[in-house]
Amino acid sequence: MRDYKYERERMVETQIRARGVRDERVLQAMLRVPRHLFVPPEFEDMAYADTPLPIGEGQTISQPYMVAVMTELLEIKETDKVLEIGTGSGYQTAILAELASLVVTVERIETLLRKAERRLTELGYTNIIFIVGDGTLGWKKEAPYQGIIVTAGAPEVPPSLFEQLDEGGRMVIPVGAWGYQTLTLVRKENGRMIKEELFGCTFVPLIGKEGWKENGA
Ligand code: SAH
Repeated sequence: MRDYKYERERMVETQIRARGVRDERVLQAMLRVPRHLFVPPEFEDMAYADTPLPIGEGQTISQPYMVAVMTELLEIKETDKVLEIGTGSGYQTAILAELASLVVTVERIETLLRKAERRLTELGYTNIIFIVGDGTLGWKKEAPYQGIIVTAGAPEVPPSLFEQLDEGGRMVIPVGAWGYQTLTLVRKENGRMIKEELFGCTFVPLIGKEGWKENGA
C-alpha cells in the first residue's frame, strides 16, 4: 500500500503554507493524517489535489486548504474540547483530534458517521466522541467548548452553538445563502458575540432545526 508521504508534503507546501497558513501544529497535523484513506477508492489518486471531492450521500470532503484555514482560526490548545458539526468523511475530525484533548463530532447522516467512526478508530484515535443527530443543536453534555467548527453552510449562527461556546472561545462557520457563504469567525467575549467575516466559500447546506430545512426554506 502506498503511503503518499510525498504527495502530503507537496500538498502542505504548495496549497497550504504557500497560501499563508503558518501555525506549525496545524501544518504538522496535515502532514500526519493520511487523507487518501478518507476519500472513496475511486478518488484515491486525487486525495491530495487542491479540491473538495464527493464522499457519497451528496456530501463532500472539504478542500485541504479550507480544512487548514478553519483549523488555524480555531487556535486550538492541547487542553481544549472542540465540537465539530458535519463529520462527513472524518478527515477534519482527525486533524482536530491531533490538536485537541477531546473532539465531539456530530453528523446527521448515520452511514457517513459510522464509516468515519470506523476509519478513525482503525487509525487509533481515542479522543473522539461520535454522535448521530442534528448538530445545529450542538451537544450539551460536553459543553462548554473552547472551539466549535461547522463544516456546512448555515443561514445564521445557530443560537444553541453560541450558547455552548465557552467564554473566550472561537467558532468558525460558513454563514450565508444556500449555495454561497462567508466564512465567519465568531468569538464570545463577556457573553457577547463578536463576528468577523473572512472570505467567500461554498459548503453543502447545514440542515436542521437551527439551520436550513431540507428544501432550502
Ligand atoms: N468536514 C467534512 C465535511 C463534510 S460536508 C469533511 O471534510 O469530510 C458537511 C457534512 O455536514 C455532511 O456530511 C452533512 O451531512 C453534514 N450536516 C449537514 N447538516 C448537518 C446537521 N444539522 N448536523 C450534523 N451534520 C450535518
